[in-house]
Amino acid sequence: MTTPVLIYYDARMLGHNPHGWDPDHPEWTDAVKTMIALQYPAANLATYSHPERPERLTAIVDRLFLEPIDDVRWMLPVPASAAQLEQAHDAAYVASIQSLEGQSGWLAEDTTAVSPGSVVAAGLTAGAGISAIDAVAAGDARRAFCVGRPPGHHASADRAMGFCLYNNMAVAAAHARSGLGYERVMIWDWDMHHGNGTQAIFYADPNVLVVDSHCAAPFYPGTGLLAETGTGAGEGTNLNVPLPTGSGNAALIEVFEQVVAPAARAFRPDIILVSSGFDCHYLDMTCAMDETGYAAITQRMCALADEFCDGRLVLLLEGGYNAQALADSACAVVSVLAGNPVNALNVLASDPGCAAVCEAAAFHAESIAALSP
Ligand SMILES: [Zn+2]
Repeated sequence: MTTPVLIYYDARMLGHNPHGWDPDHPEWTDAVKTMIALQYPAANLATYSHPERPERLTAIVDRLFLEPIDDVRWMLPVPASAAQLEQAHDAAYVASIQSLEGQSGWLAEDTTAVSPGSVVAAGLTAGAGISAIDAVAAGDARRAFCVGRPPGHHASADRAMGFCLYNNMAVAAAHARSGLGYERVMIWDWDMHHGNGTQAIFYADPNVLVVDSHCAAPFYPGTGLLAETGTGAGEGTNLNVPLPTGSGNAALIEVFEQVVAPAARAFRPDIILVSSGFDCHYLDMTCAMDETGYAAITQRMCALADEFCDGRLVLLLEGGYNAQALADSACAVVSVLAGNPVNALNVLASDPGCAAVCEAAAFHAESIAALSP
């Protein structure tokens, strides 16, 4: 038996379509090429275009239409208002982004850029998380997945970075707190990159627990150390799990078992949110997960949400740059959200990430024990 899953998507999210290179800044182009060559040695720079491209979404949406899953309901998001964006961002920053509507240009040398449709796409993507949380809170469904772009977890309160304009996750979590009155929000960011923006926005907030598993620094963005545990009243509510490149399904399942689940049991969240990047997929060329691993961790998150918060679970798409990996992973995740079983799990003979997870779990044991509802 399946259960309803809401999928938030709007074709205007495809209107964000920045160029691969900034012709006005050849030195930025050189810097980006150097970064890509370091992180993706197999990439062909001659045919490179911007990796955060509209096809990321059409790959997912096309697959979900071609291979429909029972009980999936397609929903249109309401764009985030300036007031909602300002729950996570400085008002001046929101105004500066909104002033770019209809324009093209680069905001940062790490290829964060806008095209004429970007501001509308970003507003809809930030709004999708809010719409999903509102629907889940109203009991329309227990689970939702927001298929939006640009992604968000590198954007801080006042800075665009790493393809991200608005921090969609931070806007959603802030809405859950102040808009709906949920006391405790838990986030797991399983994107391959550290969600430095999300970390920064909630670093001093004891009511938003952030667990972030990612490729360890100096991998982009170079943050996410074990010792970055929060500050002030938020001390101990930011739990990083740095992993080596090559980490696979078993490592991410261990992140769940050793860090996410114990932290949730201590913290007792009112709603669980996931920054769901699919760039740990082996087709993204750095880590070794596949869609069976994403299905397995999603199944565990559903059980956790059922245990602590009446099933309230909302996933937001973050990164993932290979079309097939995105389609395979997103469909596997949606299938599990709809209550279908996980039929297979591929694991490496020896997963290099498992030892790092044990180390992180030991490091965070005291913080986790100190978490309380
Ligand atoms: Zn990523």
